[in-house]
Amino acid sequence: MPELPEVEVVRRGLERWVAHRTVAGAEVLHPRAVRRHLAGADDFTHRLEGHRIGAPSRRGKYLWLPLEDTPQAILAHLGMSGQLLIRPRTAPDEKHLRIRVRFADTPASADTDAAGTELRFVDQRTFGGLSLHDTTPDGLPDVIAHIARDPLDPLFDDEAFHQALRRKRSTIKRALLDQSLISGVGNIYADEALWRSRLHYDRPTAGFTRPRTLELLGHVRDVMTAALAVGGTSFDSLYVNVNGESGYFDRSLDAYGREGLPCRRCGTPMRRRPWMNRSSYFCPRCQRPPRVSS
Ligand SMILES: [Zn+2]
Repeated sequence: MPELPEVEVVRRGLERWVAHRTVAGAEVLHPRAVRRHLAGADDFTHRLEGHRIGAPSRRGKYLWLPLEDTPQAILAHLGMSGQLLIRPRTAPDEKHLRIRVRFADTPASADTDAAGTELRFVDQRTFGGLSLHDTTPDGLPDVIAHIARDPLDPLFDDEAFHQALRRKRSTIKRALLDQSLISGVGNIYADEALWRSRLHYDRPTAGFTRPRTLELLGHVRDVMTAALAVGGTSFDSLYVNVNGESGYFDRSLDAYGREGLPCRRCGTPMRRRPWMNRSSYFCPRCQRPPRVSS
């Protein structure tokens, strides 16, 4: 499952390759890929035709392509294995090609790299897809209007996040993964930021001090920024960015996936514990579990 840095890498790729191009036509090759577009495949393709794509946007792990001349946007769901690829029109179809979007190349765009390319949504497991939605006055697709800003968003409110942590009867990793509080922090980056902050994943948030919250947010941002610099992590060999290149940040992870390996800070073997149908990786010495109150 791609996390925020991976999605941001895809967004940047799309910005370069599809922004401000006019859709000449779209083709849905598998109905499951547009199942979130409730009006169906024909409606999806008809509504796109002739519209210009605006600047691709992201909030947390959600990525969308606004249409420039109407308050609507194409929301991309990458799912487990979804890829948005830019390919020359003449390139053979991928085995798992689900949706193709062709563009009208105008004389102005004919000399650019993008000329002669099309956008392809390829998805082996078909958990992902594309759908068209109305947008809110802020420009968000209406179905994700409840998603909080992510920590890399300049308008993310650190103080409001701290107050929300204090109010919630939650534990810290649950809170980090709560998309209505903070978006874009997935399992991997939560474990990394908690390790850097020396915090156990089950620590109650009610007792968090402001400095502790700010330190944790700083580590969340550092981990994500470092991942972005190398193109995101890639744990799923099926996941590649918009130009088909895999990320390789996994080599520099400090916690996630390091069960039994020495903690890079104190040398204690790292542990893995089942956590909400996933796993949490932590150092039992640096990240002491909270005392259980009866
Ligand atoms: Zn340690």
